[in-house]
Amino acid sequence: MNKSFELKKIANEIEKCKVCKTGKNGKAVIGEGSPDADIVFVGEAPGKKEAETGRPFVGRSGQLLRRLIREVGLKEGDVYITSPVKYLPEVGTPTVKDIEHGKTHLQKQLDVIDPKIIVLLGRVASFAILGEFLAINKMHGVIIDKNNKRYFVTFHPSAGLRFPSLKKKIIEDFQKLKKIIL
Ligand code: URA
Repeated sequence: MNKSFELKKIANEIEKCKVCKTGKNGKAVIGEGSPDADIVFVGEAPGKKEAETGRPFVGRSGQLLRRLIREVGLKEGDVYITSPVKYLPEVGTPTVKDIEHGKTHLQKQLDVIDPKIIVLLGRVASFAILGEFLAINKMHGVIIDKNNKRYFVTFHPSAGLRFPSLKKKIIEDFQKLKKIIL
């Protein structure tokens, strides 16, 4: 399978998707990174910076995520970074409907990339992928094996920006992730 080509086809579908655009603003934020990534990071929904640029995780929480990725010895270009919701929600927080719809596109992306591990950044990612809003406070740093797939749960980096205690936990989680992937 030509993964780049398949991902481009999915990107075209997202750009044309009227359901995705309903109640949202800005450019489509598809995801970026390697089509052959062993690790995919799944967030929530684009923020303002992402909607302006069309690139995932380029705002403040993105800078934290990208720094953590580099600090565990990975290159940003070797992983894949994306979110279930592909456009900036007008009301800020995505609705369950937004997440469930966005997941249809995200699932296709994950099927093509077929990574070894999917890192779920926060409860929206956990709902999109596992179908339940996990209590991240309890589940962070935990590996979940489900349907022959491996997931790793941690907080969304925006939580780390708001609460220094959570930033510490995210950094610890990324150290655990490092041990799992190396
Ligand atoms: N937060 C997300 O969850 N996704 C992005 O793309 C940017 C910020």
